[in-house]
Amino acid sequence: MLKVQDLKKYYLVKKWPDEAKTIRALDGVSFHLPVGKTLGVVGESGCGKSTLARTLLHLETPTSGAILWENQSIAEIGENNYRKNIQMIFQDPYNSLNPRKRAIDIVCAPLQVNTNLSKQEIVDRALELLLKVGIAPSEAYKYPHMYSGGQRQRLGIARALILGPKAVICDEPVSALDVSIQAQVLNLLLDLQETLGLSYIFISHDLGVVSHVSDDIMVMYLGKAVEQGPKEELMRAPMHPYTRALWASSPSMDRPKAKEALALGELPSPMNPPSGCSYHKRCPYAEPMCREKAPELLPHGKTLVACHFTDKLKQNF
Ligand code: SF4
Repeated sequence: MLKVQDLKKYYLVKKWPDEAKTIRALDGVSFHLPVGKTLGVVGESGCGKSTLARTLLHLETPTSGAILWENQSIAEIGENNYRKNIQMIFQDPYNSLNPRKRAIDIVCAPLQVNTNLSKQEIVDRALELLLKVGIAPSEAYKYPHMYSGGQRQRLGIARALILGPKAVICDEPVSALDVSIQAQVLNLLLDLQETLGLSYIFISHDLGVVSHVSDDIMVMYLGKAVEQGPKEELMRAPMHPYTRALWASSPSMDRPKAKEALALGELPSPMNPPSGCSYHKRCPYAEPMCREKAPELLPHGKTLVACHFTDKLKQNF
């Protein structure tokens, strides 16, 4: 349904009047999101996840590469049609909801702008959807600040779904919530996916959360995918040292601490990425070659991995 090919987003940042630096926020990402499936995108903040989300929503114009919706470019299907098909659930529901509007008005607004439905039909449809996400009609006339964090995220989900999108980008949708509420919201997203046939791009820094909801996973580091493939394969035998570091460091996964987790360290600045393999300064397996040459994302079994030494890593797992 959604195909992304070699997508790049570069920013030119002026350091001095006569000196500029290019930040490669997204540097050649490709994937396919089938109907009813979830692609998990995982990595630390600064790895390009949010740029990917903004570029997919067409809030940012890509530097190069292609975004295809049902084999058509956004120019071919039209920006408005594209936006109706792909919506977003934000990390912080409170900041993304207008505090001066009641829940019912927030959910009705997209229908008022984008459809010719009568006032009553719009309200009926909004109440029906609010009920589906767990907000009773008696609660629908409250303002966002009167809701708990979990209810606010339910409201954010209803607003994202009201136009009937086929795909939803979930940007860290549970990271601002208490652990007990996280599970409820994740289960709600899974239920809605099943009943409405939705596809998700689920963005998170937590590999444990991503693995719970995803069919495929893409691990990003400094704007690039370093490993991607079916969830089962990636969780059974992660090949890239960075995937292993995330895997061993995830607060929601009961894993022994591994060599790679201890090496997680600080993310280098995207303004000044390391030469060669951009992970070499943190990688416990780095060899001199890693400083010189950037590895390509190549097939390794059922997954794609960007590392020069996958064979050595295989023996170390
Ligand atoms: Fe580590 Fe080298 Fe592989 Fe990069 S290419 S992940 S530095 S072993």
